[in-house]
Amino acid sequence: MSKVLIIGAGGVGGVVAHKCAQAPEVFSEIVLASRTESKCRKIAEQLPRPIETAQVDADNVEETTALLKRIKPDLVINVALPYQDLSIMDACLNAGVHYLDTANYEPPETAKFEYKWQWEYHDRFKKAGLMALLGSGFDPGVTNVFTAYAAKHHFDEIHELDIIDANAGDHGQPFATNFNPEINIREVTAKGRYWENGDWVETDPLSVSKTYDFPAGIGPKKIYLMYHEELESLTKHFPSLRRARFWMTFSDNYLKHLEVLQNVGMTRIDPVNYNGTEVIPLQFLKALLPDPASLGPLTKGKTCIGNVIRGIKDGKEKSIYIYNICDHEECYREVQSQAISYTTGVPAMIGALLMVTGKWSGQGVFNMEQMDPDPFMDELNRRGLPWNVKTL
Ligand code: NDP
Repeated sequence: MSKVLIIGAGGVGGVVAHKCAQAPEVFSEIVLASRTESKCRKIAEQLPRPIETAQVDADNVEETTALLKRIKPDLVINVALPYQDLSIMDACLNAGVHYLDTANYEPPETAKFEYKWQWEYHDRFKKAGLMALLGSGFDPGVTNVFTAYAAKHHFDEIHELDIIDANAGDHGQPFATNFNPEINIREVTAKGRYWENGDWVETDPLSVSKTYDFPAGIGPKKIYLMYHEELESLTKHFPSLRRARFWMTFSDNYLKHLEVLQNVGMTRIDPVNYNGTEVIPLQFLKALLPDPASLGPLTKGKTCIGNVIRGIKDGKEKSIYIYNICDHEECYREVQSQAISYTTGVPAMIGALLMVTGKWSGQGVFNMEQMDPDPFMDELNRRGLPWNVKTL
């Protein structure tokens, strides 16, 4: 029995609230807080049992600390934006509460994410006897656990990792992003980067691509090399990796719109003076684009996210593919959300479940692959994200 505070009432926050509400034996009390409380109440109305809602500006450490001290949760699930990670971690330290998130910290003024800032909290969490679990979404999150599971059960040593994220869904909109547009576009327009022989190799944005043939009737799709945050922690925690890359599918239509938006300056994150008002073009663009939560009832098709891993077992070379298939419409029927928010929210709930039940514990700041993958893999099968392993 535990009390959990979810911060962030967007697409992912809605799924986390639904999935926690489905497990009353674990999460006996749920509080959902966000910048706009009406969004929390809207989610609360969809749930099978009553939850409390609250308003909080999570950029404000004092305000967030006061909320934590009033609510006294066992754990905070941070599914606001990456900009709030450090202030929520500070509030957790002030109030003595465990912490979990799904995306690493990113300073608002530069499109750059890395674990450095959050790893620096390790000693403070350790000293306070608290645990912070970083990146408990799908990628990062499940992809880290897939890697740890493969290393534990399928290989003596892993050498190559390709994380491949396909969204073969269609929402019928001319241009929309599946999660927060600002975070999504910052990520996609950044330079690509992959790990090879002990060094990072940088590539121009979306300049490296190939075709990958996906299972479950999805078929061949073009995938693009990108930098993704789990590469940083996985290459640190699995030093036997000689190469680690991340790939994502994009439709030609998405790329066409993105190119035009970039060319006209709409993806800039520096302030522009417009008639005496400072406007950040990407934030203005976010206001124009469909809210990712509104795509739920419109999206059809599947996602397929998984890892191709190569390495050595009993002296022989071996390759496996571990992946999950998720159906947008089935997600909507279950929790009124599309599969991108679902595949992020379910692992956040599973990470929380393992922490509050003591199956995953520790003092300090941890990435997912540092924990035993087995209980997490079991819960994925039980909570809506079943996985398959294929030997290639
Ligand atoms: P949304 O934009 O839909 O939701 C974000 C929510 O956070 C909104 O409700 C927003 O409030 C709230 N919020 C923003 N700023 C504050 C603040 N200062 N104080 C309190 N609440 C705030 O995003 P998503 O739900 O799509 O994504 C949530 C998180 O999940 C992001 O960090 C994203 O990067 C991560 N993610 C991780 C993935 C993974 O696989 N690991 C995949 C997809 C997403 P308001 O409504 O008022 O704006």
